[in-house]
Amino acid sequence: MSLSRRDFLKYGATTAGATVVGGGIDLTPIEAAATSLRIKETKAFPGVCPYCAVGCAQLIYVKDNKIVDIEGDPDAPHTEGALCPKGSSTYQLSLNERRISKCMYRAPGSDKWEEKPLAWMMEQIAQRVKKTRDETFVESVKVGDKQVTVNRCEGVAFAGGAAFSSEEGYFAAKLMRAIGIVYMEQQARV
Ligand code: SF4
Repeated sequence: MSLSRRDFLKYGATTAGATVVGGGIDLTPIEAAATSLRIKETKAFPGVCPYCAVGCAQLIYVKDNKIVDIEGDPDAPHTEGALCPKGSSTYQLSLNERRISKCMYRAPGSDKWEEKPLAWMMEQIAQRVKKTRDETFVESVKVGDKQVTVNRCEGVAFAGGAAFSSEEGYFAAKLMRAIGIVYMEQQARV
């Protein structure tokens, strides 16, 4: 059966409740119906998008202890339910078979990843930062004919993440400066 563009629009409008607007199809009613079907009989939990410090509010829909959908929260005063494309994909972040959920370590020179406990990872990071700091700490440099005190660590750099809140950023900057790190950057600014 051949279907003309006119037939197609007519068929879509009558069967799915879509409205034809200026030669195009307004899919809003269809999308609303599909969404309401997906979240039918679910319980909504308030959440916050994990991707950046804007902190857009989300509703996490759960059924049988499983996340079935994540949408913007229309009651949030600063976003009114809107999410950027990244935030809109949060559902895929939560439920993704390729998501690594264990601590994986690859030793220097190795081509293999090994599973390690989180406590071991933290200990390694602390030990390596300490070792590098001790080996690369500079107490003073010569400027002209004067020896000037600088007390800085030149062997470690720090980059903050866009998901940092103001408080986390403040804390991280304090900590890095306390150990002498001068090379600091923020991903949101880069
Ligand atoms: S990534 Fe997008 S949706 Fe998520 S908090 Fe930032 S601006 Fe909001």
